[in-house]
Amino acid sequence: LPVMRLDKFVCKSTELTRKEAIQYIHSGEVCVNGEVVTSEATQVHENNTVLLKGDRLKARDFRYILMNKPAGTVCSNIDEVYPSVFNYLDVDKASELHIAGRLDADTTGLVLITDDGRWSFNITLPTNDCRKVYRVQLSQAIPAERSSDLVTQFKQGLQLQGEQGLTRPAKLDIITPKEVLLTITEGKFHQVKRMFSAVGNRVVGLHREKIGEVCLDLDVGQWRYLSKNEVESFN
Ligand code: URA
Repeated sequence: LPVMRLDKFVCKSTELTRKEAIQYIHSGEVCVNGEVVTSEATQVHENNTVLLKGDRLKARDFRYILMNKPAGTVCSNIDEVYPSVFNYLDVDKASELHIAGRLDADTTGLVLITDDGRWSFNITLPTNDCRKVYRVQLSQAIPAERSSDLVTQFKQGLQLQGEQGLTRPAKLDIITPKEVLLTITEGKFHQVKRMFSAVGNRVVGLHREKIGEVCLDLDVGQWRYLSKNEVESFN
């Protein structure tokens, strides 16, 4: 990754002159990765967190993309058995991008793609309580008399095979006996499928509709840049 002097970084990411940038640095107004740094010659990477008076500076424009992931694609940058979602993205330097919350190959729907690691961390860190909404098709019909128990079980947390604690509180909305909406705030490997397997059911269709306040408004395989408001809704 490109490395540059701190004063250059501050200039590049603000309207400040070199002289003004150095003054701010000397007066202790600039933090790098949580530490006050007063030497303008300090080397920083472009993905370090640099704050000026508490506001984060960005040395370049990060990219924030929404895509409607087709079935039969993988969320890694490399094609394995299936083609990568990145094949659908006609942007420069796609290899610098990553997905904030991957989906399985057979899962469809909303994926967020970025090169801003701090932003994607905000989305995926379970304790941040960022909601992910999935529409789930089930192999077994949920009997009406089981519905309220099941909602309670998902709310209280489930014991997944091979995991230490319970899952975090989840919201289950039963639409029809074989179709539900599930809202979760974490993303363990195959989480939704394993949650239904823990209650004796099986997921036969999985589609992510929403992350935080961002909804899917694209056709399958389409993508767009997020609006400023959408980007900032995760900060
Ligand atoms: N849960 C799963 O099981 N698979 C996904 O792709 C997403 C959530």
